[in-house]
Amino acid sequence: MSGSLPDDTEVLIIGGGLTGLTCAVLLHEAGHSVIVVEAADRLGGRAHSLRNPVSNVYLADLGPTWIWPEAQPFAAHWLQALGLGLTPQFDTGDTIVDMATHGSPTRHRLPGMDGSYRVDGGTTAIVERLAKRLPGSAIRTGTRANRIACEAETIKVSTDNIALPAIRARRVIVATPLRVAASAMNWWPALDSRVTHLMEATPTWMAAQAKAVAIYDKPFWRSKGLSGRIASRMGPLIEAHDHSGELGDPAGLFGFIGWPRQARHINANILQSAIITQLVRCFGEEARTPDYFHIEDWAENIFVCTPTDVTEPPQHPQLAPSLLRKALWGGRVFLAVAELATVSPGLIEGAFHIGSEVAKSVSATLR
Ligand SMILES: Cc1cc2nc3c(=O)[nH]c(=O)nc-3n(C[C@H](O)[C@H](O)[C@H](O)COP(=O)(O)OP(=O)(O)OC[C@H]3O[C@@H](n4cnc5c(N)ncnc54)[C@H](O)[C@@H]3O)c2cc1C
Repeated sequence: MSGSLPDDTEVLIIGGGLTGLTCAVLLHEAGHSVIVVEAADRLGGRAHSLRNPVSNVYLADLGPTWIWPEAQPFAAHWLQALGLGLTPQFDTGDTIVDMATHGSPTRHRLPGMDGSYRVDGGTTAIVERLAKRLPGSAIRTGTRANRIACEAETIKVSTDNIALPAIRARRVIVATPLRVAASAMNWWPALDSRVTHLMEATPTWMAAQAKAVAIYDKPFWRSKGLSGRIASRMGPLIEAHDHSGELGDPAGLFGFIGWPRQARHINANILQSAIITQLVRCFGEEARTPDYFHIEDWAENIFVCTPTDVTEPPQHPQLAPSLLRKALWGGRVFLAVAELATVSPGLIEGAFHIGSEVAKSVSATLR
């Protein structure tokens, strides 16, 4: 099927997150030639895990953490197909409620997190298993698409990779956050203004959030009858959870940082010590010296987060307007990102769903 385009490709996918990779795997397995260009120097987009720099052992998820397989058939199907197991989120024991301006945090028994599971090996394992199903030559990381131009027979995508200045494709799938696609790419001719407006108006789920992870030699909170959960209005972490392996190794905690992006940015040097102080207040002295500590600030990732995402209050993902699910430029360009899914928009489930739907639509137009 790729015979008519020896140097280029039938389908070019811009963005190597879960949605772009799902599209790429399905199209490749349906016999189409595909190239994925990914701006970052790694695949996965928001799906990203921390690994031990020496042993490469998985330590923690820096983007998404949970899957709810009983309610998410697409994620459940894909994880099974990729041979990845799931472990229930640990939630045995008391939650620390850290709300009092004076006085110590208190212990409470809160409802559990039944149905929330973590992917064995972290969400990076999903990315790696998807990428393994593609030929190595199909993936170009460190390659940012900056211009999409409609030509008579093909779509020409220019990139900032000097080794790969332009690629021509019969179909292009733009699998980047919609606001990034609208603001950081030059479309020629310009997109219909209604489409641009809707792209700019669609928030990218969690794009402006930041997560902290602290890895310890053992899950010391468990032996105190604590679940590792914190609910707080007092510290930088507004919410934290156990992030250990099933049997407690590696042992870790993760939390969402409540400080807005500007405060995180200006006070970067004091943020870590403020989080450690909070963990010590909630869990005791053993929390003071993690083996690893990492803050992942998604608001600093220009391939995911735009200034609009930072200034807007976070909103739960809504169903995006159907106009954005219609192919552009006479059926040759398609938008595909988790936020566009009609099922679980903004979530991993949504990424698998929209990735599969768009792959089907693109394949149908090439037959
Ligand atoms: C902190 C956090 C916590 C989350 N928690 C959960 C959770 O617990 N459960 C859950 O289901 N979901 C969660 N999510 C959401 C989940 O991460 C997303 O649904 C999913 O990863 C989206 O995948 P995607 O491929 O659609 O988009 P992205 O992951 O955003 O992928 C888009 C890709 O496009 C690339 N790109 C951008 N511009 C260009 C360009 N010009 N050229 C080439 N490439 C480009 C980006 O680098 C990126 O790799 C969370 C997200 C975050 C950030």
